[in-house]
Amino acid sequence: MLRRDYPGVDSPIAKALEVIGERWSLLIVRTVMHGNRRFGEMQENLGIARNVLSARLQRLVDEEILERRAYSENPPRYEYFLTQKGLDLWPALIALLHWGERYSPEPNGPSRLIVHKECGGEVSERGICERCGKVLTARDAIQVSGAGRGAKVPAEAAGHAPD
Ligand SMILES: [Zn+2]
Repeated sequence: MLRRDYPGVDSPIAKALEVIGERWSLLIVRTVMHGNRRFGEMQENLGIARNVLSARLQRLVDEEILERRAYSENPPRYEYFLTQKGLDLWPALIALLHWGERYSPEPNGPSRLIVHKECGGEVSERGICERCGKVLTARDAIQVSGAGRGAKVPAEAAGHAPD
């Protein structure tokens, strides 16, 4: 039985936070969304302690937000993929991103932007492409280098993962 942080609170938000409210959990979901599927990639991307990453990944698998698939048997090595339940966190992440930009902005503008893969338009806080108006999902978007708001997203950046 999993530990419960808010046992007396009957609220969908409390229930969601039971699942994704631990330190690092949402950032791990974000980094997998950006294509970092392997333990070492996530560790490097986040600078997170191995034991913490290991525990959070297990929890996210238990909660069916991530799915673990073996890519090597000897030694055993795994990659992590988002389930539909995990992909459905995308609008929450986009909303948090915009909220963070509004209230804790980076001094030189955002260093990374989330854009529509097809057209390179920025994703609004409602998950809509600001250039073509499409309603987007996690699969339609990609992170690119922002180099400060106001800097135009280079055309060649659309459709390519950042380094
Ligand atoms: Zn678009």
